[in-house]
Amino acid sequence: MEISKPAGNFIREIIDADLAKGKNDGRVHTRFPPEPNGYLHIGHAKSICLNFGLARDYKGLCNLRFDDTNPETEEVEYVNSIKEDVRWLGFDWQDRLYYASDYFDKIYGYAIELIKKGKAFVCDQTLEEMRKSRGTITETCTESPYRNRSVEENLDLFARMKAGEFADGSKVLRGKIDMTSPNLLMRDPVFYRIRKVAHHRTGGKWSIYPTYDFTHGICDSLEGITHSICTLEFEVHRPLYDWILDQLGVHHPQQIEFARLNVSHTLLSKRKLLELVEKKYVSGWDDPRMPTISGFRRRGYSPESIRKFCEQIGVAKAGSIIELNVLENSIREELNKTAPRAMAVLRPVKVIIDNYPEGKSEEVDVINNPEDPSAGSRKVPFGRELYIEEDDFREDPPKQFFRLSPGREVRLRCAYFIKCVGVIKDASTGKIKEIHCTYDPNTRGGDSSDGRKVKATLHWVSCRHAILAEVRLYDTLFTKRDPNETAQGQEFTANLNPKSLEILAACPVEPGLKDARPGSRFQFERLGYFALDPKDSAAGKLVFVRTVTLRDTWAKIEKKL
Ligand code: ATP
Ligand code: MG
Repeated sequence: MEISKPAGNFIREIIDADLAKGKNDGRVHTRFPPEPNGYLHIGHAKSICLNFGLARDYKGLCNLRFDDTNPETEEVEYVNSIKEDVRWLGFDWQDRLYYASDYFDKIYGYAIELIKKGKAFVCDQTLEEMRKSRGTITETCTESPYRNRSVEENLDLFARMKAGEFADGSKVLRGKIDMTSPNLLMRDPVFYRIRKVAHHRTGGKWSIYPTYDFTHGICDSLEGITHSICTLEFEVHRPLYDWILDQLGVHHPQQIEFARLNVSHTLLSKRKLLELVEKKYVSGWDDPRMPTISGFRRRGYSPESIRKFCEQIGVAKAGSIIELNVLENSIREELNKTAPRAMAVLRPVKVIIDNYPEGKSEEVDVINNPEDPSAGSRKVPFGRELYIEEDDFREDPPKQFFRLSPGREVRLRCAYFIKCVGVIKDASTGKIKEIHCTYDPNTRGGDSSDGRKVKATLHWVSCRHAILAEVRLYDTLFTKRDPNETAQGQEFTANLNPKSLEILAACPVEPGLKDARPGSRFQFERLGYFALDPKDSAAGKLVFVRTVTLRDTWAKIEKKL
């Protein structure tokens, strides 16, 4: 079994030991190396918090480096979104923004150095031939027939590869390492491939591009990185990382692996997230259902809540799935303390107060945040006709139902007690059109003077003063805890939750919300936390997205479906 050390500690222990030994002259220098082939997700947030967090805590440095060695899949849009997301999370690379492509000349130089040392050769095998001759762990392997080309021939061929003389896929540069190694990655791995495509930064300059394995360690070394932290799947790559730097005799950072973050009911694979975007299962990378940083931002998560989550889950060698509600709790706790309350009615039904004078309205004082007295109160208009939630009324109430029903008295939040005296239904559908009530003028503010109690407090919005907002309710994107778990022949998309989005087109909300700033967050009383979507809201159009429910209800979803 893997041993997992207490949260965040095993990497710190390595660094502490290095510092105690005086290794790297007491420097700590990390990097976050995204490939710009997609938007960052919550797993990347973990890596960002770890790398930038270590640099902060050890008074070291952390670079942002784009690992842009695959020209086909990389785009400037991704570069920009990544920079925005890292900044939004609260981290600063200062003047240390780098691109692997900035080092292409140097990397090419190192490749020539290896050729000269007899440690790399040009190979004409196809990918398929290479795969076959490499064998498997138990199978024997056969050396490439091109393995023993002379240094001169290799230098000549490699220069001509660079000059664009050969077709894509016709030649590669390979390390000359060990075809009998039990680690398949050490069996003469590919260092350079021919790709005659333009790169988003170097344009048409290069016809050959270095592989990730060849590039990564060299970039780390050139930047003086001390601790090169990556996820567990790179553990088998470490001998290659070490071999390349040892052969070149350059500064040699230590690669340290930790377990990737997995979150239940979602996926953290860029390839699959890209598929969701491309096939339009979601509205884009920043769809609030996506586990991307931009999705969380639109959904109303704060950078603090994401940083706190990353800290709380810790860093370990053993992988596991973190429950989605751990993440939800971190924003819920924060919003409970900070989000101003507001009243909104998602599924309205009309209440008419028969004994309230027609044409009259008044303003009542409503507390902004019971958790934060300094937030004060606001005036909310009240009148004869109000909206309440459909759910808050039952004509024929079951036993445990204490909200409004015929003959029953309830409190309207910070306003008055009302008592139901009758209902009017639509003759054709039987649906309730109006609930008629009387109010007690002596209960202004929501308290009776005679000590009489009611069992329920309802939120409400005055019909005459209401403004309408679109409200989007979200559920988990996938129905399964592990969306990769599919029946044979099924795609992960078979696990998409068909009810992950519900749009309520016209919800009455209190008028003060018309001045809400895009991105601002509220607790809609009794309903949950909501943020004003900065993307789809416009002048005169409010779109609220549900950040998170008031309590942890998602666990019931699986049962419901
Ligand atoms: P790809 O398959 O495209 O390489 P990737 O998720 O590894 O996907 P990168 O852009 O290479 O994406 O990741 C940048 C950094 O973030 C890497 O150091 C990687 O190890 C780390 N990272 C990626 N996914 C996670 C995750 N789920 N948990 C923690 N760290 C992650
Ligand atoms: Mg990667």
